[in-house]
Formats: sequence, C-alpha cells, structure tokens
Amino acid sequence: MENDKGSMYGPSYFELNTGAKIPSVGLGTWKAAPGVVGEAVIAAVKAGYRHIDCARVYGNEKEIGMALKELFSTGVVKRSEIWITSKLWCNDHAPEDVSKGLSKTLEDLQLDYVDLYLMHWPFRTKPGSSGFNPEVMVPLCLPETWSAMEGLFASGQARAIGVSNFSTKKLEKLLGYAKVPPSVNQVECHPGWQQPSLHNLCKSTGIHLSAYSPLGSPGSWLKGETLKEPTIIEIAEKLNKSPAQVALRWGIQNGHSVLPKSVNESRLKENISLFDWCIPQDLFSEFSKIHQKRLLRGEFVVHETCSPYKSLEELWDGEI
Ligand code: NAP
Repeated sequence: MENDKGSMYGPSYFELNTGAKIPSVGLGTWKAAPGVVGEAVIAAVKAGYRHIDCARVYGNEKEIGMALKELFSTGVVKRSEIWITSKLWCNDHAPEDVSKGLSKTLEDLQLDYVDLYLMHWPFRTKPGSSGFNPEVMVPLCLPETWSAMEGLFASGQARAIGVSNFSTKKLEKLLGYAKVPPSVNQVECHPGWQQPSLHNLCKSTGIHLSAYSPLGSPGSWLKGETLKEPTIIEIAEKLNKSPAQVALRWGIQNGHSVLPKSVNESRLKENISLFDWCIPQDLFSEFSKIHQKRLLRGEFVVHETCSPYKSLEELWDGEI
C-alpha cells in the first residue's frame, strides 16, 4: 500500500500492479441522472476528486464527457491528473465487440484512453440487447473476452484492465488463463459486506480491490442500512465525523479504494474529507461486530435454464 506525501493519514492513492496510482476516493456515477451528473462531476473535481467511476450501462457517459471537456478547457484539471474508469457491458463480451464497447465509451467521454477498463459482470448477453431477460442470455466466453481486454491494454486505450463482480473462485480461474493479470476487481464492499476472503486473495495476488456501494447504497432500490448501523453511528459520534465518513475511512484503512456516489455538493465534500484523521485501532476492530449481508445479490443474472448461473450460490461461488 502506498502512502503518499508521507502523511500518517494516507493513502490518497493505491499503487496498481501496472505501477499506476489509483486515487483512493472516486466519484460513483451509477444513478446520477442525466441533467445532474455533469454538474456533480464538475463540483466533485473542484472539491478535489481525481477519480470518476463510469460505465457505459449507466447511460450518462456523454454528459460526463461534456463535463470533463469543460474541466480540461477551463484549466481546472489536466487529463493526466484525473483517473477515469469505465466498464464493458455484458452485451459486448463477444471478442469482436470488446473494442467497439470501449470506442463508444471513449467517444462519449471525449477521451483517447481510460485509466482503467473493467469487465462489468462475469455474464454475457446478446449483442445490442438490453437487460437480463432469459431470452437475451448467451453462453459465457470469459477467456476470449479477457483476451480482447488484453488487446485494449496493449493498444494503450485502456491503461489498466480489470474485472468487476468476480468472486474469489472466478478471479482464481481468470488468473489461470490471463496473460495480463487484472489490476482491479471492483466489487460491493462496505462495513456491512466486508469480503475478507476476496480481500485476502486480492492482496496475495497483487490485485487491487475497489469498493462499490461503499456507503451501502442507501438511496437506491438496494436500500442499504449500513449508515444506520449502531456500531458506525457510535464510532462517528466518538470521532465527531458522519457515518458516511466513517464507512469510507474504514474502507481506505482496510486497503481498498472507495467509490461513493453523490450529486449533492455538501455530501461530495463530506465524502472526500478523509485524509486528516483516522479510525484508531480499538475502534477499527469494532467493525468485526457488524452483521454481514450482500446487497446487490444479482438475482437478475440467475436463471434455471438460460443463464450460466442457475443459482446465487453459483454466481458468487458460495460467497453470499
Ligand atoms: P453508495 O455510493 O454506497 O451510496 C450512494 C447513495 O448515498 C446515494 O443515494 C447518495 O445520495 C447517498 N449519499 C452520498 N453521500 C452521502 C452521505 N455523506 N451521507 C448520506 N448519504 C449519502 O452507492 P452506489 O451508488 O450503489 O455505489 C457507488 C458507485 O459504485 C456507483 O455510483 C457506481 O459508480 C459504482 N457501482 C458499481 C457497480 C458494479 O457492478 N461494478 C455496482 C454498483 C455501484 P446523493 O447523491 O443524494 O448524495
């Protein structure tokens, strides 16, 4: 783990297996609505964010691209100073479609490259389809899709490549056939779903874990209750911080980057005010008391006949 500027409260970035430095707080953009997301990106970068987590399927990359263009042209930030992640959607898993998926993202974001490109789910749907209905599900070709991802890395259009929503077992399998190992596995991770075995595998194989829904996704249909956890509220009161800050700071101290989404300027600022304090060890150990529950369970991917995953057990390889 890198600790920049010699700060005892760092790190504000983590070093990947490519040598690149991923900022430890990134702005989430899922469910950041069109008409709102551009302003949120601008406000976030002005507040100090240097990492934006995007995905083609979020349907807002065009507006994010316009916001980035404005930030670059007005000199708020240079392209080289900001980390942009995007993700390959499931309907572009056919090897011949992988580079088209990234090209569309680059066109919308108005960029020449992304800092990190992730395979969004270990799941494949028909080209051009949307959603996860049984009729659009097609058999997986993960080794071929990964090989095409490696091509994007070789071309420089994706400066690092990785995966998302991979269980420990799926990550181990991928490591068995990858010529370029993944730099990142982006997964659900927050105090209410801590993923210790996945963390251990990531640490031992040099893969960085990046945490989505780090606040427990309170505003989405997942209706997470992490910020209402008595342990977190108690720690927040003791440290004079908000429950959200405690949840995020826990993530960074646990060694993973966090991707909180907000479109509200004061919450954006709150969520990045994490680097001049820390959770002391005696309070940090209290997190082990928190009840564990996966929120984004992926029922929509499971189907008895049409999906490669006939149960949640198979999708997460028992990590549910
Ligand atoms: P999250 O970041 O855990 O929670 C976001 C929710 O919390 C929003 O409703 C937000 O509302 C609210 N919020 C933000 N700051 C707050 C604060 N300080 N206090 C109280 N509430 C606060 O959930 P998420 O959006 O599910 O996950 C974050 C990001 O991870 C996504 O946006 C996306 O980029 C990524 N993600 C990736 C995957 C994947 O499959 N790879 C899946 C899910 C998410 P306001 O906007 O109104 O502040």
